[in-house]
Amino acid sequence: MTTQHSELPAQPLTRLSEDEQLFRDSVYEFADREIRPLVREMDEQAKIPKALIDKLFDLGVMGIEVPDSFGGGGASFFHSVLAVEALSRVDPSIGVLVDVQNTLVINALVRWGNEDVRKRYLPKMAADTIGAYALSEAGSGSDAFAMTTRAAERDGEWALTGRKLWITNANEADVFIVFANVSPEAGYRGITAFLVERGFSGFTVGKKEDKLGIRASSTCELLFDDCRVPRANVLGEVGKGYKVAIETLNEGRIGIGAQMIGLAQGALDHAIAYTRERKQFGKAIAEFQAVQHQIARAATELEAARLLVYNAARLRDSRQPFLTEAAMCKIFSSEVAERVASLAVNLFGGYGFVKDYPVEKLYRDAKIGQIYEGTSNLQLQTIAKQLLG
Ligand SMILES: Cc1cc2nc3c(=O)[nH]c(=O)nc-3n(C[C@H](O)[C@H](O)[C@H](O)COP(=O)(O)OP(=O)(O)OC[C@H]3O[C@@H](n4cnc5c(N)ncnc54)[C@H](O)[C@@H]3O)c2cc1C
Repeated sequence: MTTQHSELPAQPLTRLSEDEQLFRDSVYEFADREIRPLVREMDEQAKIPKALIDKLFDLGVMGIEVPDSFGGGGASFFHSVLAVEALSRVDPSIGVLVDVQNTLVINALVRWGNEDVRKRYLPKMAADTIGAYALSEAGSGSDAFAMTTRAAERDGEWALTGRKLWITNANEADVFIVFANVSPEAGYRGITAFLVERGFSGFTVGKKEDKLGIRASSTCELLFDDCRVPRANVLGEVGKGYKVAIETLNEGRIGIGAQMIGLAQGALDHAIAYTRERKQFGKAIAEFQAVQHQIARAATELEAARLLVYNAARLRDSRQPFLTEAAMCKIFSSEVAERVASLAVNLFGGYGFVKDYPVEKLYRDAKIGQIYEGTSNLQLQTIAKQLLG
């Protein structure tokens, strides 16, 4: 008996198109060749060399979704996810540099920028300019809309006053998306997104944080003291910055999911290689069933996390609702990353605890996934709200 199929069967989520596979493999090969030798030094010095950043631009991963007409890759959000995953497998600090550039800054410019803004900024972002996304403040993290940075109209321009904290890429960036409130009495309806350039008067990049993990990625304070911003540098509409923030972060957290599955894959790669080599009781420790089961469980959890991340990204690219799925992928993949990196440290034994081996760094790096772009509690709140109303 033959079965008639009116439609092609649905494709497996993790099946990549030829183009996606080539892209992912080329990014991973680059990371293995160009980034891996620098990982320890970048972590110790808390710095990404300029030469490496130049190579990331040449590779095309700094403008993945910038339309070809503006010199970018003209690719999908899913491609950004693949790039962040492949880079984070080697170094999650480089993963987040590329993630913020693509899933937050370029994403917001493509989506909310008018023709003039796109023309002025997108070609630069694809060519040589790094972006940063500045929402959080010392007193407003989870409650981001309680921000105290203000913008007022002065001499036909906007004048920004206040401080932002924890801003990724701030040391390297030349363009900053900055959220400020133009009418605090209107509450979140006063929040507006501005495009601030490094050279604007009244703007300074302040203290750089000394961090537990992703140490090479810069995280700095931003200071605005009557910082003058031209009217044409409002991103989206005045008073609609809350929409820019919410919608970009909903997408951005899929990128953090990608960073976390990349990190977990990197930790698993190291654990597999090491347990095959390390001998105790006269045989490789990978031959002990207890170790095999630990590795099998880690691989299973990673596969589940990857399915959540890919599904959320593919939903987003096919313009279907993805809010719950994005929150689920971030919370789950960040927890899996922490567990897999912790297992890798355990399987390396004493060598897992020292800096001569790569896994203690991944363990430190994993922690951030549960904090930025919405803490785990905030992700659970988003999921519960969808379920319970
Ligand atoms: C390395 C790094 C890079 C970052 N990069 C950026 C960036 O580029 N741009 C940017 O704008 N921000 C950035 N951030 C800021 C980050 O998004 C915030 O730190 C995060 O949102 C948490 O805010 P908070 O630190 O003020 O913690 P808080 O909001 O004070 O939270 C503290 C604890 O309280 C819990 N909590 C708070 N409210 C609730 C609630 N309603 N229900 C239950 N629990 C709650 C939280 O889950 C958390 O466990 C970065 C932070 C770090 C550490």
